[in-house]
Amino acid sequence: MSFPTDTIAALATPTGTSAIAVVRASGPQVSALTQTIFSELPLPRTARHADYRDAGGQLVDDVLFTYFAGPNSFTGEDSLEISSHGNPFIAQKILEDLFARGCKPAEAGEFSKRAFLNGRMDLSQAEAIMDLIHARSDRALAVANQQLRGSLERKMKALISILIGILAHVEAYIDFPDEDLPTEDRQNILNQLDQLLGGTRQLLATSHYGELLREGIMTIIVGEPNAGKSSLLNRLVGRERALVSPEPGTTRDYIEERIIVGSHWLRLIDTAGLNPAPGLLEKQGIDKALEQADRADLFLWVIDSNRPIPILPSKLGSRMTVENTIVVYNKSDIRSLPDLIENDSFPSVRISALRGTGLDDLRDAITKLAESFQTKTGEDLITINARHAVCLKEAVNSLESAGSKLRDGEHSELVASDLRECLESFGQISGKIDNERMLDQLFATFCIGK
Ligand code: GDP
Repeated sequence: MSFPTDTIAALATPTGTSAIAVVRASGPQVSALTQTIFSELPLPRTARHADYRDAGGQLVDDVLFTYFAGPNSFTGEDSLEISSHGNPFIAQKILEDLFARGCKPAEAGEFSKRAFLNGRMDLSQAEAIMDLIHARSDRALAVANQQLRGSLERKMKALISILIGILAHVEAYIDFPDEDLPTEDRQNILNQLDQLLGGTRQLLATSHYGELLREGIMTIIVGEPNAGKSSLLNRLVGRERALVSPEPGTTRDYIEERIIVGSHWLRLIDTAGLNPAPGLLEKQGIDKALEQADRADLFLWVIDSNRPIPILPSKLGSRMTVENTIVVYNKSDIRSLPDLIENDSFPSVRISALRGTGLDDLRDAITKLAESFQTKTGEDLITINARHAVCLKEAVNSLESAGSKLRDGEHSELVASDLRECLESFGQISGKIDNERMLDQLFATFCIGK
């Protein structure tokens, strides 16, 4: 890995008018720059008030600036943060002045990349910063914060240490081609491999919940025309988003809104009513609803409490399970029919979308289902992203292959090669692929004993 020598600068806040704007710079020239611009190099991490004059001596703004001495900075290098008044023109003038004084424009993610290269954080933590910036719900924020504090890194370290233990054991026999692993050792290793596979698969299973936190839980409102689907969407969104009409079949396309329920973020979709005898346009709407249902994570099945329970189209019915569906008995203001409604396999709530009653129960039911999507990973809240999932799938393949070779009595050399591949895949999650060093450390303390 090559280490950067340029000093970079960029706007750290969005462009646009605001109370303040922050420009930051990082790299070897920062302390000299700070001294030239502000005629002092203050104590690190101490905000100072000063005039900002450009290289031509012209006053740009009065600013607060903070100097961070490497390695105790975000990037690990000397860094400077300049807070100006939040006028994009001022921020741009400061930035251009920094460029005129020799700084390079930072590339996207370059500050974080430098932090990674300087060992300030591993790759999974760098990714957690992106998750933190984009978190839209309490849960997504909590996961990102834990990941930033190393929850995934700790989990990976635990898995890697089991793997290294196994690998060390297997490698011990490689140099002795005449004496391969005894049967009882093979069984012992197989048991440890199973444990490792279990832990890896469990971590892999968190990828789905991670996606739900990042993309929002795709929640689709289904039901007969006139059941009150649009009224429910409006209630949950808190404004008149969808057209409510006594005439059936008014929602012909689908409507999507993003809402927060409890600590989760939902993409809420209202679909065309599932009319068994639709008109042409309505039919297109229903087809779209069924298409959406293919991708849905959660179903709200709205039923008019005053009507018999409808039969769902089979394509939809087969997707809906007790784990992903809430039956919403609507219009409870007109009539409540507790004994008529016997569809208890699904969790259900009673509401009146018209009056706005029962909505808290519905929100609780949604939260309960959303919570159940989470895979438990011990103390820490962990969800992996798509990149981690690719690495972990590769790791699972290598472990499975190692297991079958062990069972088939193949030579330990071949088993070790699969295990090393697994180590490589694990290493890619944190970005620390220097397995040689890890192995050297381990073998220095390992007694081969033969
Ligand atoms: P959709 O076709 O399923 O989207 O149903 P709408 O939300 O358009 O509602 C159809 C009709 O039912 C409208 O006249 C609504 O005012 C009425 N409606 C919706 N929810 C309730 C409710 O909880 N109670 C009563 N009495 N009427 C409702």
